[in-house]
Amino acid sequence: MELGEDPEREGLARTPLRVEKAMKFLTSGYAANIDAVLNNALFTVDYSEMVIVKDIDFYSLCEHHLLPFFGKCHVAYIPRKQVIGLSKIPRLVEVFARRLQIQERMTNQIAETIREKIDPLGVAVVCEGTHLCMSMRGVEKQNSFAVTSAMLGAFRDNARTRMEFLELVKLRGAAPTGLSAGAGLACVTD
Ligand SMILES: [Zn+2]
Repeated sequence: MELGEDPEREGLARTPLRVEKAMKFLTSGYAANIDAVLNNALFTVDYSEMVIVKDIDFYSLCEHHLLPFFGKCHVAYIPRKQVIGLSKIPRLVEVFARRLQIQERMTNQIAETIREKIDPLGVAVVCEGTHLCMSMRGVEKQNSFAVTSAMLGAFRDNARTRMEFLELVKLRGAAPTGLSAGAGLACVTD
């Protein structure tokens, strides 16, 4: 690939090494073992109210351009028998963010993993992301961000439960009812 640069110049000489190191870190989610991440943090409890962890920062890379997308992730579930240690939820988000991703899939993977591991009555995950592959390249609106959601179980079946969750996380962008309109904005342009 010709960028018109001199790859031998001092500032660039070690750049391939640095990029490799950075990429290994930014995609370290592939090597993470979910069970090891959640190790000793699943607890059996007599609690069936909504558990919410909101404003979890995430940083990921879009798989189409290898440019960052980042923002906040909000996770909720209603336990059936088990809960996950609260500090493990951001770790779980990290495992899926540190991969080559599209925001829709990352959102689903977080929700599905929680469903798989503790079989809750419901899981909800909403992610709000700014995509540099859109803003840096001048595609679409500069400050637009994508909202994606995954609603399983009670959050899918019960509108009141879903509204309670959306009210509690108070999205900075679209009103809760506008969710579906804002979703599905992942970059697919060249
Ligand atoms: Zn992209």
